[in-house]
Amino acid sequence: MRHIAIIGSGPAGYYTAEAAQKQWGDDVRVDIFDKLPVPYGLIRTGVAPDHQSIKGVSRRYEKTALTENVRFVGNVSVGSDITIPELQQLYDAVVLATGAPNDRQLGLPGEDLGNVFGSASFVGWYNGHPQFADLNPDLGGRHAVVIGMGNVALDVARILAKTEQEFAGSDIVKHALDALAASNIEKITILGRRGPHQIMMTPKELGELGNLMRASPRVDRDDLPEEADDALLEPGLRKSVTHLRSFAAIPEDMHAEKAIEVEFDFFANPTAMSGEGSVKTIEVERTVVEKGRAVGSGETYTIPAEIVVACIGYRTSPIPDVPFDERAGRFANDEGRILTGLYCVGWARRGPSGTIGTNRPDGYGLIEKIVEDMDNGLLGRAGKSGREGFDALATDRKLDVVTFQDWKKIEEAEAAAARDGAPREKFVDVEAMIKASQ
Ligand code: NAP
Repeated sequence: MRHIAIIGSGPAGYYTAEAAQKQWGDDVRVDIFDKLPVPYGLIRTGVAPDHQSIKGVSRRYEKTALTENVRFVGNVSVGSDITIPELQQLYDAVVLATGAPNDRQLGLPGEDLGNVFGSASFVGWYNGHPQFADLNPDLGGRHAVVIGMGNVALDVARILAKTEQEFAGSDIVKHALDALAASNIEKITILGRRGPHQIMMTPKELGELGNLMRASPRVDRDDLPEEADDALLEPGLRKSVTHLRSFAAIPEDMHAEKAIEVEFDFFANPTAMSGEGSVKTIEVERTVVEKGRAVGSGETYTIPAEIVVACIGYRTSPIPDVPFDERAGRFANDEGRILTGLYCVGWARRGPSGTIGTNRPDGYGLIEKIVEDMDNGLLGRAGKSGREGFDALATDRKLDVVTFQDWKKIEEAEAAAARDGAPREKFVDVEAMIKASQ
């Protein structure tokens, strides 16, 4: 019997468990740990609440979770409740699938002012992550600035722009829905330090911005390169740029019909934020793109910014005893191998890139590596105690483990509490989750 511990129950964790099952069938036992009492990581607290079809992939993970040889071990914090060396004593292989939950910092003056957020906290807030449920962003100002031109920036801008009606069928949490319904925001500026040909936004997601009830996307025609140059782009990016061109063609009277403007400010590198207590303005330097890089032009200007959300990427949380690559913000690894018997997968391995589906080949590829290491006699020979050993330790330490069956009770209670037409009303604090699980 092989014993595998996976830390993190998001997409990378469940795809790895699925791959282990395909590889070894009944000859493997997989324990998937999560520090929250609820599974699915980014599917629950990262994917936008109005993208329910993407969240539907959790049904696939549930199939894996409900098999005999895979267990969910919720409400257990690796690094404090149990250490990595302890897990390595119990399991043949320990796989870190902990994602990249921390915001990258801009490192700008004024970044610590009130109402300046990173996307991990802001997205966590509207998705009901217990760590960010009390964020309480002030949406009373008229101007919002979103920094970055990736899909997270698009999510944030769209959520800020939508009407209450447009959240029908979503699982946006009540505190966010109420705050957004009372919002005064009239203008959302998306700042990109490079140009339209360097955006990281994918076409389907960018296209959505053109179909909002009360918001209109504005692109300055002069920022767009010659149309002929689009032919050099890879097809996805070319399609995204086509959306930008269609936004640039929206006539003024159509903009005027909408209450909110979502403006793309290209070649705009934020350099400082100002305000008293809370942010009020952001200073921006015009750039030119040279050999793909943004280079400052020296020309600066200031725009109003009563709330700022920086969507510039994420970093993995270091764990004691695990080598960390500070520069890259993820575990130091060679194609998923960290140390003998210790691995990483998903964003914890490669950094915050790709879609949910990218984690599938990542998980399957990692299991191939573990097979190789087992075949080479590096692991799998010591007769580890696996889940039995963990259960003894959990009893000893009085850990309040939440099982998958317990989660199903939480899930049922969330479904029962849902608004009309919504799939669920999430619990936003750990105690309430645990209470519902009992
Ligand atoms: P991303 O795609 O890497 O985009 C980050 C953006 O931040 C880039 O535009 C980058 O500009 C900018 N940036 C970085 N550092 C900056 C700085 N110091 N100042 C100004 N701008 C800066 O990251 P993301 O949006 O966080 O998304 C993470 C991953 O999740 C991506 O793979 C994304 O596709 C995926 N995702 C997918 C969906 C979906 O499919 N619906 C939804 C959300 C997220 P430069 O390019 O100039 O560095």
